[in-house]
Amino acid sequence: MIIKSLVHSSKCKVCESDAHLCGVVDFNTSCDSKLPDHAVLPLTGIPIYYHRCENCGLLYTHAFDDWEFDDFKKYIYNDDYIKHDPDFLGVRPRNNAELVMSNFKPILKWNVLDYGGGDGQLANLLCEQGVKAVGWDPFHLNLELPQGKFELITSFEVFEHTPTPVATLLRLSVFWKKEGQFSFLH
Ligand SMILES: [Zn+2]
Repeated sequence: MIIKSLVHSSKCKVCESDAHLCGVVDFNTSCDSKLPDHAVLPLTGIPIYYHRCENCGLLYTHAFDDWEFDDFKKYIYNDDYIKHDPDFLGVRPRNNAELVMSNFKPILKWNVLDYGGGDGQLANLLCEQGVKAVGWDPFHLNLELPQGKFELITSFEVFEHTPTPVATLLRLSVFWKKEGQFSFLH
């Protein structure tokens, strides 16, 4: 596992303002590890340093800036991922489907893309309610990008996972339909 060396002087990944070191955790730290049903792994001794932007407050790390797709697949989004994020199955997609259906009344007329949508559960739940929805997620669903443009793009729990948030947003934006474009990022 190759972790990027500590970056002492950093510019925010969103607004490019100065950002300072604000903390460090072990690689095996999961954000919800204190909750019931969440796995707790032994320490690896691999430090992951975080910076905080002094302008917008973004909290981020450079540790994985040099990782490729296969690194994320091997070390994070592997078969054990579900042990650290049990809501990935069922609970979160159901809650998100309710949130989307209740907030976007014209949704039955729209094509909907769930960008970074895990194994496609949210898209499937929307389809069950008559929505033309498709999910895309390279780690859990499919590598092939969806075709076409979409009136609504949802993206839940994606931007805190990407090491390049601005580039991810730009990649997502190519799927916007010109009229009535709308994204819902959460
Ligand atoms: Zn910032």
